[in-house]
Amino acid sequence: MCKYCHELSTPGTVGRRAILAGAASAAAFALAAPAGAAAEPRSLALYHTHTGERLRVTYAENGAHIPEALEEISHFLRDFRTGDLHPIDPDLLDVLHRLRSRAGGRGTYEIISAYRSPRTNEMLRKTGGGGVAKRSLHMEGKAIDVRLTGVRTARLREEALAMKSGGVGFYPDSDFVHVDTGRVRQW
Ligand SMILES: [Zn+2]
Repeated sequence: MCKYCHELSTPGTVGRRAILAGAASAAAFALAAPAGAAAEPRSLALYHTHTGERLRVTYAENGAHIPEALEEISHFLRDFRTGDLHPIDPDLLDVLHRLRSRAGGRGTYEIISAYRSPRTNEMLRKTGGGGVAKRSLHMEGKAIDVRLTGVRTARLREEALAMKSGGVGFYPDSDFVHVDTGRVRQW
């Protein structure tokens, strides 16, 4: 669990992504394909370390995100403590997809933490011994803590930093990398 992934939302990050993340309808995500996105299908292989669930999913094709796949992923990446759901930022999936390509991996992402509900965040704030802020990009479906099979976590971090696509946190003791779609920054 990434207790310290507590970057606040700042005015600079409130834009198209924030609006999309708040959209209740998965259909809204159909409009989320970035301009100039590659037309090849984009897939991810996921393993959730807390629920033991696995998911192989193609979430975009012909340059567009697939609403049904995004819904499935949002369920997979739910708050595993409470079962609460939240839309996952499609840009975050694209970050994971590109990161895997850059790292030369064809592996599976092991998920340590993704969406975190207000209830869970508050619980962690009370029991986590500090370091958990009131707002976190995890609470907006814009952050994820992962490792990638077949790729050293230090390498994964280097590739994520080189992408300059958002925040990158490194947790060598727990062997995972935090990536998000907020401001470019690192810790
Ligand atoms: Zn995190």
